[in-house]
This record gives sequence, structure tokens and C-alpha cells, in this order.
Amino acid sequence: MGVAVNLLDFDAAGLMAYFAGLGEKPFHARQVLRWMHRCGQDDFGAMSDIARSLREKLGTMTGIVPPAVVSDRLSDDDTRKFVFDVGGGNAVEAVFIPEEQRGTLCVSTQAGCALDCAFCSTGKQGFNRNLTAGEIIGQLWQVNRVLGAGAGLAAERRVSNVVLMGMGEPLANFENLATALRLMLDDNAYGLSRRRVTVSTCGLAPMIDRLRDECPVALAVSLHAPDDALRDALVPINRKYPLRELMAACRRYLRRAPRDFVTFEYVMLAGVNDSEDHARRLLDLTGDVPCKFNLIPFNPFPGSPFRRSSPPRLRRFAEILIDAGVVTTTRKTRGGDIDAACGQLAGRVRDKTRRSGRPPSAITAIHEVRSL
Ligand code: SAH
Repeated sequence: MGVAVNLLDFDAAGLMAYFAGLGEKPFHARQVLRWMHRCGQDDFGAMSDIARSLREKLGTMTGIVPPAVVSDRLSDDDTRKFVFDVGGGNAVEAVFIPEEQRGTLCVSTQAGCALDCAFCSTGKQGFNRNLTAGEIIGQLWQVNRVLGAGAGLAAERRVSNVVLMGMGEPLANFENLATALRLMLDDNAYGLSRRRVTVSTCGLAPMIDRLRDECPVALAVSLHAPDDALRDALVPINRKYPLRELMAACRRYLRRAPRDFVTFEYVMLAGVNDSEDHARRLLDLTGDVPCKFNLIPFNPFPGSPFRRSSPPRLRRFAEILIDAGVVTTTRKTRGGDIDAACGQLAGRVRDKTRRSGRPPSAITAIHEVRSL
């Protein structure tokens, strides 16, 4: 903030174009890209292989400005939640999840979310704005810096995987998302493989095609229901892109995806979508899409009317899917003690949609579900 041009907003092509506009050679753009993203450098003065005159020019005209970390909390299970100030009274969150052999960073793409899924805390906050590319990649930049990346750390101590599953709907902020994804994949920046970067969407079908065409990475789709009536109530965007369209977009995606399956996320809501019949109908729905299931125990938040499915219910649901030959995992709930679990990321959002004045749509959704 405060600088006219934030160099974190550019991917390699954008930075080269910007340098060309300054009358500078493209290879300087590559050098600066490496300093910024591979070395985590934000001080032009330290970029020792770049001519002093160029460093001075960049210093006066531009900046390397990630969102400021305003809080950094460690959970009992080693999950670590970062809160970033993105100005205007808004804050967004990222969560680092160390596991055996890998470290996953869950990144936000919007301040708030406009899609209003019935069971999601971010959605209840309303929507303020899209994050810039620099604010999206800046979360990774900051976390790498805090973790001390590059110092030969074991995979679980650094960011080896990124999931776009934080606050917001990534595909509703496509341009900035794509710029940030290209940086994640670029060997001169973060060099992550396409299989280790996952975009999660609530199902913006036309944008799934765009992602396939412009920047295919691993895809997760938040399904949560086996039929349109229930999904309309839980994930309102389904009214615009119903399941038939969504499944077709998933099949088209797989023709060019780096992985040969889509991950379907399914939040387990007691008495709402967790019966044996739901599981069987889910298999019918997804039968011709190579997929895996990731069942997410619902994480409650203040004011939410839903409850988490009981463990036996969850196990039975998973068993039906597994017996049908579909790989099914249950997401471990981590970081609950610091409100870092799925769907609990609330950050701080100045709602511009005025939705927060209306009755919570979760209540509406429950009525709709009950009346089915
Ligand atoms: N907008 C994207 C990514 C954000 S959320 C999407 O919808 O996919 C990542 C996952 O957490 C989604 O599957 C989302 O549906 C799920 N989720 C949201 N609220 C939740 C909650 N309270 N408990 C468990 N999972 C939740």
C-alpha cells in the first residue's frame, strides 16, 4: 500500500512487459522475480546483481508490498493461522498445515465471499472485494519468510503445497487468481508442481473451463449434495449452474488436468445431507467423473444452525463410497482451537453487499431443506 506499482502484482510476463515499458531488458525482470519470490527479498538495495541505476529507478517508482501480518497463532496441533491486513478495515486469513512429508498453505482469494453458502462462516460475513494478485501471492511470500524457506527445510516445515481454500471463491476473482497461480508454478518464483496447487470452487462452471484453458492445476469442487433441490439450498450458486452443468464442466476439465481425478468436497451436516441414501445418490451423480471424495466434518461457528454428523454416520457414509470403489478420505479437523478449521476463516470483512442485515441464509436454507 502506498506505492503506485506493487511488483508482487506481476507474473513473469507482466513483469517483463512492465520492464519493457521502462526501457529495461527482459532478463532484468527475471532477476527481480527471483529476488522477490525465491529469496523473499523486498529491498532493491540488496539485489546485488542488478545495476544501481535500475535499483534506484525501481526504488522510486515501485515497491514490493505484501499484505501485513497482523496476527500469527499456533494451534496445539501445529496448524498455524496468519491474519493479514488488506486495508479498508478488512483482514483475510491463511493457514499453514504441516503434515508428514508436506506442508500445505491454505490461501484466501477475496475479502469475504458473495456466494453465501449456508454453512460457511466467511459467507456469513458478506463480501467486500477481490484480493489483488499481490495480496494473494503475498500470503505465500509472507508465510515463506516467517517459516524461513529456502534454508533446506524438510517438506513439512515449508510450503510444499498450496490450496486455494481460504476465504472467498477463487474462480470469482479469476484474473488475479491466474496471475498468482502462474507465480506459484514458475520456476523463477515458487516452482510448485501443478499437482501440488489446488483450486477449490463452489462450482462456477464456465470458470472451470477457463481455468482448464489458462492455468490447469488440481481441482476440488465443493459438492455437498447429491441433487439440485438440496444443493440449491446449501450452495445457492447451484441455481445458476446446476449439477448437470457442473458435472459436464468437471469431465471437460479432466481432459487437460494435471491430475486424472477431481476431488469432490462434501461437508457432513447432521440430518441434512449425511444419510445412506444421500451417499448412494452421490455415487449415481458422479459415476462418470473420475473422482475422489473428501468428507469434511462440519465446523461450527457462532450463530450457525447446523451440526456435525456423528462419527458412526460419517463412517457409514464413507463406507458406502469406498465399497463402490471410490477413494474417500475424511478431512482431519485441525486448528479448531484457533478458529483455523475449514469454514471458520472469518477474518474481518466490511460487508458491501448489505447482506448481513438480512436474516442469516443458513436459517432459510434449513427451512428449505426441511420442506424437501
Ligand atoms: N469458495 C471455495 C473455497 C473455500 S472453502 C469453495 O467453495 O470451494 C473450502 C471448503 O470448506 C469448501 O468445500 C467449503 O464448502 C468448506 N466449508 C465451508 N464452511 C465449512 C464449515 N463450516 N465446515 C466445514 N467445511 C466448510
